[in-house]
Amino acid sequence: MTAYNWGLATCISEYEATKKRLSAITLHKGLVAEVKSENTWYYEVSKCAPQQALRDLERAFKNFLTIPKRGFPKFKKKGKKDSFYLEGSIKILKGNYIKLPRIGIVKTYEILPSVPVKNVTISKRANNWYISFKYDLESEPNPTPKQRDIIGVDVGINTLATCSDGTKYANVKAYKQAKKRLTRYQRRVQKKEPGSKNRAKAVKKLARVHKKVADIRADTLHKLTTWLAKNHSTIVIEDLNVSGMLKNHKLASAIADCGFYEFKRQLSYKCEWYGSELIIADRFYPSSQLCSQCGHQQKMPLHKRTYKCYYCGLETDRDFNAAVNLENYARQ
Ligand SMILES: [Zn+2]
Repeated sequence: MTAYNWGLATCISEYEATKKRLSAITLHKGLVAEVKSENTWYYEVSKCAPQQALRDLERAFKNFLTIPKRGFPKFKKKGKKDSFYLEGSIKILKGNYIKLPRIGIVKTYEILPSVPVKNVTISKRANNWYISFKYDLESEPNPTPKQRDIIGVDVGINTLATCSDGTKYANVKAYKQAKKRLTRYQRRVQKKEPGSKNRAKAVKKLARVHKKVADIRADTLHKLTTWLAKNHSTIVIEDLNVSGMLKNHKLASAIADCGFYEFKRQLSYKCEWYGSELIIADRFYPSSQLCSQCGHQQKMPLHKRTYKCYYCGLETDRDFNAAVNLENYARQ
């Protein structure tokens, strides 16, 4: 039984008998007296977890009594929303490791901001664990000196990102290899008989490759978005939507793979951190069709890797032309 459910049961019997409600402190004393002596394991994770549960309960019960139409607190079902609260010595270690009281060092999928953290909530959904905490914006990294004023960024198939200063972020070799391996392992799973031990083994291997691809992808994206936000005052990107990307066969790149949304999300918060501005070009801005030199517009089918302007004669890489157009977009 969770501390919350134990507390709710105690509150109900008290309320029925005396019409009084119990404070979180009284409840916690009762919990210690009744539960701890028999179940020492209960306090192993953290004593703060049941304390916070009882504080939540106190609030829920008070709301029920004082706010009209507020429902009676419900018992929590196991597995529906499993979560607990931790406080104490919490420390974020180099990027994506966090040290938690009683639990130890945990690796997270996402890079964490290097900020002081007082408490965290850990929850479980499906088979994944989530950690969440609040922090002040003020303690975040300060604006950085910028090397360039405006940069346009084109995200694409062959190259992960092409920038208007000429920088190209290639799809990492390791990523391409892992992707190939992924296709191979997927085929292996399909060949095995459903329900067989060999299939289970193949599925396990496939999951490992999936994880590897996801790790490389996250790492590459973080490097790219950090570099952009740290070194440029204004960053201009296209407004891509998923269906548009499917149409453009852009799915082979790491950006397309984890969703353009994630790229945009990372850029947004990092621009805020490092004091730069993110501009998202209008959905209908024809960044790949315009000539970045004279502004002439022409059709650019996907197989054409070079932009050859029929008007002024400019000849340049298709993605680079688009990136310069995005930079020009901010100058308009
Ligand atoms: Zn031209």
